[in-house]
Amino acid sequence: MQHWLTVSQTKPKLLLVDDQRVNILVLYELFRVDCEIFMAMDGEQALQLCRTVSPDLVLLDVCMDGLDGHEVCRRLKADPQTQNIPIIFVTGRGSEEDEVRGLDLGAVDFIVKPINPAIVRARVNTHLTLKRQNDILRSLAMLDGLTGVANRRKFDEELARSWLQSVREQAQLSVIMIDIDYFKRYNDHYGHLNGDSCLQAVAGALEQAINRPYDLLARYGGEEFACLLPNTQLNGAVMVAERMSANVQALQLEHLGSEIGQFVTVSLGVAAVTANHSIAPQALVQEADRRLYQAKHAGRAQVCFGNLATSLPAE
Ligand SMILES: [Mg+2]
Repeated sequence: MQHWLTVSQTKPKLLLVDDQRVNILVLYELFRVDCEIFMAMDGEQALQLCRTVSPDLVLLDVCMDGLDGHEVCRRLKADPQTQNIPIIFVTGRGSEEDEVRGLDLGAVDFIVKPINPAIVRARVNTHLTLKRQNDILRSLAMLDGLTGVANRRKFDEELARSWLQSVREQAQLSVIMIDIDYFKRYNDHYGHLNGDSCLQAVAGALEQAINRPYDLLARYGGEEFACLLPNTQLNGAVMVAERMSANVQALQLEHLGSEIGQFVTVSLGVAAVTANHSIAPQALVQEADRRLYQAKHAGRAQVCFGNLATSLPAE
């Protein structure tokens, strides 16, 4: 199973933010048995922890020196990496106006100091349950129901993320596009139910060719798969593609409609790039797709590859 699908079985992570030690201690005592607790005494530290540990819920003091709770909340909601972390404001000021401002900023709830332990516990539990359900729904929405690998939506999301990472770190990013050869004939000959089984088997074989947790295999369309390999140069990606091809052939799935032997095979196109802001991420997919068509025209069951040109050739 891919790492992004595993819903955590461990204790939920709770971040307590307050500039008064005593307030943190009260909350700590309340939740230390049921939660893994992280603590911050100012806004900067809170932002840092949100990025590094991705808490499931933040209890955020509003009144703090430096970055106050509202500003911390605003920044968390503005960052795609932290915008889904639910925030409950904890404040001494219980005016309606404060509450409205907090909710406007994207907080899920409001707790007034001095806290009532039973109420705080109930609210925190409610929001932790909602967060867990949300995480499950979010990962299901990114899943291809038939093959169990990621779907195209997940691929596009990760491509955008990896693209920015490649720009930032000046690291190569590779994409492999994979297509099952003569798949329409397979369906015509063996029927759609067997076609589905074939897709599942091929997805499994492709997935076995990738090892690192941040590599992603997705079903891109009907019989087409796409693989995203961050931090990977062209030659490394070609090796993965060759392994995918070999894994599929090793399945020895009978395919009498194929013109290149009696078993199911795949054609693969590989492209790599060091990303920059002047090109769109989709250009990398198009280049890999172009290489895939090359592989098809050259006789299928093979890998074609090339770097995506990122600047115009010299005159
Ligand atoms: Mg305070």
